[in-house]
Amino acid sequence: MKYNRILLKLSGESLMGHQGYGIDSDRLNSYARQIKQAVESGVQIGIVIGGGNIFRGLSGASKGFDRVKGDQMGMLATVINSLALSSALEAIGQPAKVLTAIGMFPIGEPYSKWKAIEAMTSGTVAIISCGTGSPYFTTDTGSALRAIEIEADVMLKGTRVDGVYTADPEKDPSATKFDHITYSEVISRNLKVMDITATALCKENDMPIYVFNMDKEGNLAKMLEGDNVGTLVSNS
Ligand code: UDP
Repeated sequence: MKYNRILLKLSGESLMGHQGYGIDSDRLNSYARQIKQAVESGVQIGIVIGGGNIFRGLSGASKGFDRVKGDQMGMLATVINSLALSSALEAIGQPAKVLTAIGMFPIGEPYSKWKAIEAMTSGTVAIISCGTGSPYFTTDTGSALRAIEIEADVMLKGTRVDGVYTADPEKDPSATKFDHITYSEVISRNLKVMDITATALCKENDMPIYVFNMDKEGNLAKMLEGDNVGTLVSNS
């Protein structure tokens, strides 16, 4: 395998599948199968899930919610998604543990780097919820932070598209995909890979990001075997 330990970021929106809201169980089970297969191939896995399929603080604020409370609602949404994924993993015999950046025992155990590593080294998937635990951040930043903390070899960002393109491929058919791009180029070309805070954190701490389409079943295994199924973003 190309990597020993990975941090996988799944967006809440992709958990929604073809529905307009909530959790699509086909998509959830497809993720669970791919994750189990990766653990069986010897890879240690930490996961951060978004909450955009349920609630986003910014859209709450635009409707008059207090921003901090709205963000807290968003962080709780990541816990709901994390519980759903842990349940789907356990249903197929893959041990998983939900860790929470905000104390809420017994829903999950309080997160620490060491608790996550202890789980991963014993073949349990560590699902790290609540993003960073603070408002005004995103789960992209949460996953960058956790990837660095848990000493992952790479942060995988599962998206709806096959990688990083010169323009949005869903809008511009002439857009071409990068196999590899540097953080500096992502920033100077203003490419929407992740938000600036998350990108800066990865750049400063030399954490490579691999952007790929996790919704195509089998892509996670291909990526881990070294196939070129997405785009690598790194410092050089
Ligand atoms: N959130 C937050 N702090 C964090 C991570 C997330 O306040 O560290 C809140 C924020 O309101 C965000 C919501 O949780 O809108 C859901 O996360 P995100 O939008 O990143 O989910 P995704 O787009 O990946 O589904």
